[in-house]
Amino acid sequence: MNHHTTIATASTKDVLGIYQPGSTHMVGDGFPVRNLFPSNDLDRQVSPFLMLDYAGPQYFSPTEHPRGVGEHPHRGFETVTIVYEGVVAHRDSAGNSGVIGPGDVQWMTAASGIVHEEFHEKEFAKKGGTLHAIQLWVNLPRASKMSAPGYQAILNATIPAIDLDGGAGRLRVIAGSFLGRKGPARTVTTIQLYDLQLKVGKRASLTLPEGDNTSIFVLQGRASVNGSREAGEAELIVCERNGSQVTIDAQADSRILVMSGAPIDEPIARHGPFVMNTKAELIQAVQDYQVGKMGHLS
Ligand code: MN
Repeated sequence: MNHHTTIATASTKDVLGIYQPGSTHMVGDGFPVRNLFPSNDLDRQVSPFLMLDYAGPQYFSPTEHPRGVGEHPHRGFETVTIVYEGVVAHRDSAGNSGVIGPGDVQWMTAASGIVHEEFHEKEFAKKGGTLHAIQLWVNLPRASKMSAPGYQAILNATIPAIDLDGGAGRLRVIAGSFLGRKGPARTVTTIQLYDLQLKVGKRASLTLPEGDNTSIFVLQGRASVNGSREAGEAELIVCERNGSQVTIDAQADSRILVMSGAPIDEPIARHGPFVMNTKAELIQAVQDYQVGKMGHLS
């Protein structure tokens, strides 16, 4: 048989660049982080994601006084905390609190504004141990920036874990879907967020929504995307929007975070813990916080 048909093949996302983290800085006294963005000036290329802080892995000695970040506000976006090792406790002015341990994810929607604290959980602090986590900030579109705050404690057991073909590794669907399995996170815009473990010499092939901004963060190990050069520990591979196919090859046993989302092409105005569309909205946010409109911790 000799078919002269044109086969429409899904196109490959080209790699735009590979980026290095900044040097380690402490957030409060509990989170030693390396930042990947915004420090690399990638707002347009990683939208809807706003910030990626990679915490640890770092050992903390036992203490009766849990380390962390005290009361502080947020408005206009969501904070997503992914814990790999250690235990983090959270409490906010909307009355939400929770403890997240290894494999758990906290998806906190600040939206119109909350005040919260993030600490090492008491028993974890008392025993001492290794903290290894990511905090990702996810932007909200203009229409949702002043919505009511929300909180999702996403426990490890509720996150589908899919064994990849040929013993290549395991993919956990935090948000979006993979091979028909849906992740538990409720998102405002379309987001795929996968925690991927890929074994040395193995490959994962992903089909992501056409037009998404897609980036691949290598926490540990070494990996390449669509034939790019290899990225090592704490490096970020950023892909172009066009196309939908992403093939990840691991040159070492690797732990990877796959972030893909529909870009929010709106102006970004940021000031510390506030991310809005305009400077006037930032000034309003600071005022609202100062007069207590984002609440207080009880
Ligand atoms: Mn915070």
